[in-house]
Amino acid sequence: MLTGPFCLGPQPAHIGQVVPTLDADAWAGPDARWHPRSGTPTSGKVKRPCREQPARPAPLHRPGDRPHTGGNKVIRPDWTPAPGIAEHPPRTRTKTYFRRRTVVMTDRPLTLMAVHAHPDDEATGTGGILARYAAEGIRTVLVTCTDGGCGDGPGGVKPGDPGHDPATVASMRRQELEASCEVLKISDLEMLDYADSGMIGWPSNDAPGSFWQTPVEEGAARLAELMRHYRPDVVVTYDENGFYGHPDHIQAHRITMAALEMTDLTPKVYWTTMPHSMMRRFGEIMREFHEDMPEPDPAEAAAMAEIGLPDDEIATWVDTTAFSGQKFDALAAHASQGENIVFLKMGKERFGELMGMETFVRVQDSTGAALPENDLFAGLR
Ligand SMILES: [Zn+2]
Repeated sequence: MLTGPFCLGPQPAHIGQVVPTLDADAWAGPDARWHPRSGTPTSGKVKRPCREQPARPAPLHRPGDRPHTGGNKVIRPDWTPAPGIAEHPPRTRTKTYFRRRTVVMTDRPLTLMAVHAHPDDEATGTGGILARYAAEGIRTVLVTCTDGGCGDGPGGVKPGDPGHDPATVASMRRQELEASCEVLKISDLEMLDYADSGMIGWPSNDAPGSFWQTPVEEGAARLAELMRHYRPDVVVTYDENGFYGHPDHIQAHRITMAALEMTDLTPKVYWTTMPHSMMRRFGEIMREFHEDMPEPDPAEAAAMAEIGLPDDEIATWVDTTAFSGQKFDALAAHASQGENIVFLKMGKERFGELMGMETFVRVQDSTGAALPENDLFAGLR
């Protein structure tokens, strides 16, 4: 599960809940501040303990791929890159960047890498930018960290209910993810294939091999390998609270920031966010289309109000309205997940009105591009 930045999950009561003590050794506390680049806490406990992990399947590569060991490359045999994007195209660009003022002669395409927790997060969280930048000839790389095995199963069977088999769910969601990637014209899909940790407080949080139980250093090392391979100019992931507190989203944030620190190659880094005005509109539409949705209690409502940022604190607004149809279709590819149904009930037009603008917090920039900005690649082209 499930959809970021909303990622409602099957238990709405968890919306907005701050992760408390999933792992006392790992969690630095709700007030801990995280280093914006390293993803490590600046107060509280610093390191997650290393735990023994089960062996993971070897990465798959297509013939001719430059070898890398970070992810499990998932490209269907009939996959073709977006128009104008060769898989490993010749270098064509000259640009000066990097924090160390290194002059780098690059001859590769501009590249966007989005790091998400579950199949379907790419659609709601960043479907607009992925479609838009692919259409502009930018290489788009999606890294999906977990298998989504804690999502809804075929026929809507919920996790924990009889008949819910995480392996079957993961297989189904992988196919849905590939279909979504095709809609969004994503150039490269990489799956880290960690086991979905489930919502806050689920026993799966503590399961060996779950993403939440994976040491940050291990996940970051695999992601760093992908970053060295693709050399993204822009990396997008979640904020330090995973936007709303899902353990896998928090872990995706942590490994991403640690991998960026390891590689020191990426000029611009963003976290997804949502303006409070849009969150309010989203709440209204949710109630309109989800009639049996209970009114949130005051604590829940207060937590919801904390999600996202005040409008005037957001400096990066990317208009993806022209691509909201693709975003809708990508989400439709994940229709097995109950929480996506409400989006689909809206219809494309309403969906585009609500979800056409994607907003971000710029947390790293070595281009000097002025804020506010309306393009993640401002200063890079
Ligand atoms: Zn998710």
